[in-house]
Amino acid sequence: MLNYSVDAEGIATVEFDYPEKSQNILNAKSMGAYAEAMQKALADPAVKGVVVASAKKDFIAGGDLAELGAATDAAAFHAAISGWHKLMRGIELGGKPVAAALNGSALGGGLEVALGCHYRVAADNPKARFGFPEVTLGLLPGAGGTQRTPRLTGMQAAAPLLMEGKRIKAAEAQKLGLIHAVVPVGDERKAAREWVMAAVASGAKPLQPWDSKGYKIPGGGPNTPGGMQMLMAANAMLREKTYDNYPAPKHILSCVYEGLSTNLDTGLAIEARYFTHLVMSPVSKNMIRSLFFGMQEANKLASRPVGVPIQKYTKIGMLGAGMMGAGIAMSTATAGIDIVLLDTTQEAAEKGKDYAAKQWSKQIARGRMTQEAAEALLARIHPTADYADLAGCELVIEAVFEKREIKAEVTKQAEAVIGPDAIFASNTSTLPITGLAEASVRPASFIGLHFFSPAEKMPLVEIIVGKATSDATLARAMDYVRAIGKTPIVVNDARGFYTSRVFGTYVSEGMALLEEGVPQALIDKAGLMAGMPVGPLALADEVSIELVHKIAQQTRADLGAAYVERAADRVAAKMVADLGRLGRKSGAGFYDYPAEAPKHLWPGLAEQFPPKAEHPALEEIIERLILVQSVETARCLEEKVLRAPIDADVGAILGWGYPPFRGGPIGWLNTLGLAAAVAALDRLAAQHGPRFAAPNMLRDMAARGERFYT
Ligand code: NAD
Repeated sequence: MLNYSVDAEGIATVEFDYPEKSQNILNAKSMGAYAEAMQKALADPAVKGVVVASAKKDFIAGGDLAELGAATDAAAFHAAISGWHKLMRGIELGGKPVAAALNGSALGGGLEVALGCHYRVAADNPKARFGFPEVTLGLLPGAGGTQRTPRLTGMQAAAPLLMEGKRIKAAEAQKLGLIHAVVPVGDERKAAREWVMAAVASGAKPLQPWDSKGYKIPGGGPNTPGGMQMLMAANAMLREKTYDNYPAPKHILSCVYEGLSTNLDTGLAIEARYFTHLVMSPVSKNMIRSLFFGMQEANKLASRPVGVPIQKYTKIGMLGAGMMGAGIAMSTATAGIDIVLLDTTQEAAEKGKDYAAKQWSKQIARGRMTQEAAEALLARIHPTADYADLAGCELVIEAVFEKREIKAEVTKQAEAVIGPDAIFASNTSTLPITGLAEASVRPASFIGLHFFSPAEKMPLVEIIVGKATSDATLARAMDYVRAIGKTPIVVNDARGFYTSRVFGTYVSEGMALLEEGVPQALIDKAGLMAGMPVGPLALADEVSIELVHKIAQQTRADLGAAYVERAADRVAAKMVADLGRLGRKSGAGFYDYPAEAPKHLWPGLAEQFPPKAEHPALEEIIERLILVQSVETARCLEEKVLRAPIDADVGAILGWGYPPFRGGPIGWLNTLGLAAAVAALDRLAAQHGPRFAAPNMLRDMAARGERFYT
C-alpha cells in the first residue's frame, strides 16, 4: 500500500504503491496508510523532513470511485473527510518540510495530496496531467482542492480546473503556481529531497503561503471588486449552461466564494459539507454509474461472447462514401486500419476521401495534427468503384442509401468478392437487420453497426444482432468497434432498434406538445431545461421533419391496421406535405434559417399551430419530455431489445446526449423510485394516452420493491 523508509540524513520517503493495481488510488485503506505514515514521520525526532512519492508510473490517479459511489452514510463520510483535512493541516503546520515528487499524473485527490505538501516538483513527463476531474462525475475536489487551488493560482485561473475538470501539463501547472519546479524525468525525487534538505538547513519553519504572514489571494479575494465580478459572471454562465441541473459546479463556486471569504480552516470545513452533499446526491451516483462504470464495462466488452478469438483488423471495406461512409472511413484509418472506400463511381468515392482530407486539414490549421500524420492517414483510405478491391477485407460495412433493394444489391456484390471468414455489417438507421440479412448468402455473418453522425466524432456504435447473427460475428464486430476507439452497446433487432426508437419519442413528444397548443418557444426551452442538448423542435429540424414523416409513412405501411396514428405524424405531414418545410436541410422547418443571421422560430408556426392560453405547466412539459424516453426504454428492456439497463443508459448519454445527471432513461426511473415512476406514468397515461402506459415489467418491479441499480 505504502512504502516507508528513512535515510541516513533523516529524510523519510513515503511512497504510494497500491497493491495489484497499475495506478495509485485514494480510498479508506490507502488514505489510512498515508495518515499513519505521515503521523509517524512527524512524531519521529529522527525524521527531519519527508518526500512523498509514487512507485507507479503516475503519482496518484484520484479517488476510488467505487467507494465514493457506494457511500450512503453522510455523517460517517463527513467525519472521514474532516479527519483527512485535519491530517493535511497537521502536515502543513507540523514543522517538518514535506515535498511531493510528481513522476507522472496527479489527478483529483492525488493532486490534493500534493497541494497539501510544502513543495511540489514534477518530472517533465509529456504524458503527465494535473487537474480535478471530479466535476465531470458530479463531485468536487473535496480534500482541500477548492480551497488550496484558488489560494495558489487565483480564482480566475482556478475556475476551469475546478469547474470544467480541465487537465493541464506540468509546464502550465508551474506557470499557474500549482507546482514549484519541473525537472528532467527521473530527477524529481532528487529535486524534492534537495529542497527538503535545504529547508531543514535553513532552520525556518516550513509553511504554506496561506499560513505565512502577509499572505494575499493572488488576483484578489472574492470580496474585491474584481473577485465579485468574476464570480458573478461565472455564476451567470453556469446557470445559462446547466439550468441548475448540475449541483457540482454550483457547489464549487460556493466553496470558492464562501471558503475564500474566510481562513483556510473554515474554508475546508465549508468544503467538507458541500462535498458530502454531492457524494450523497443521486446526481453523482448516476454520473459515476453511467459515465464511469457503465462506460468502462462497455469498453472492456463485458458482454462480448466468450470463446471467440480476438479479431485483429487490417483491411476494411466501406460501401457508400457519403456522409456516414466518409466519417467511418476516417475513424477506421485513424485506428491504423486500411479502408477501401467504394461508391458508384470513382469520383463519388474520391469525394468521401476529400471530406476526410478537409476535416484533417482543419485539425492541422488548429495545430492538433501534423501534415505528415494527416498524409499517413489519408494513405490508408483507398477510394474505388471496383468491388474487386474488397478482396482480403475482414469486414465490410455498407452505408449506401436507405433503400432495401440497393442494400441487397451491394451486399450480394461484396459477398461475391470477400473471403468466407469476412463479416458484413449494415449501418442502416431504420431497416431491420434480419430482413436485410435475407440478401446475404451467410446471414450468420451479417450484423448491424449503427454509427451516429458525424461518425468520425460520435463515440457510440449500436450493434444490432439479427435473428441469424452468430455469437462469433457479434464478438468480432465488437472487436472492430473497440479497435476504432468507440463504445459499443449491443441490442436485438426491432423497429428503430434502441437509440432511434427512444430518441424519436423525445422529438415526437415535442411535436405533440405543439399540436396541443403549447407555445413553440416554451417547448424547446423546456427541452433544454430538462437537460437535453437541443430542444425537440430544433432537433426535428436537424434530423429533418421529412425523415420523421417518412418513417411514419413506412411504419404505417408495414403495420397496416395495427398502426396507431400519433400527433407527431399529423404535425410532420402538415409541415412536409402541406407546407413544404422539411427541416434545416431545406432552410425551412420549425425554424427559419436565414443565410446571414442566426436561426429563429418560423413566424408562421403560431398560425398553423395556434398557442393556447391554457397549457401544461413547465414542470409537466419537462416531465413528459423525459418520461416518454424512460417508458419507451423500459419497453425495450421488457421486449428484450435491450439486454441490460446499463446499455440503455450508456447508449442514451453517448448516442443522443441524454442528460448525464439523470443517469440515463433507466437511471432516471431508478432515481425517482419505481413506485413513484409508475404513479407518474399512470397519471400521464390517463391524460395523454397509452404512449405513457407503464410496461408490466416496470409495474411488477415496483410492486416487488425492486430497483434497476442498487
Ligand atoms: P448519403 O446519401 O450521404 O451517402 C450514401 C452514399 O451511398 C452516396 O455517396 C451514394 O453515392 C452511395 N451509394 C448509393 N448507392 C450505391 C451503390 N449501389 N453502391 C455504392 N454506393 C452507393 O447517406 P448517409 O447519410 O451517409 O447514410 C448512409 C446510410 O447510413 C443510410 O443507410 C442511413 O440510413 C444510415 N445512417 C445515416 C445516419 C445519418 O445521420 N445520416 C446515421 C446513422 C445511419
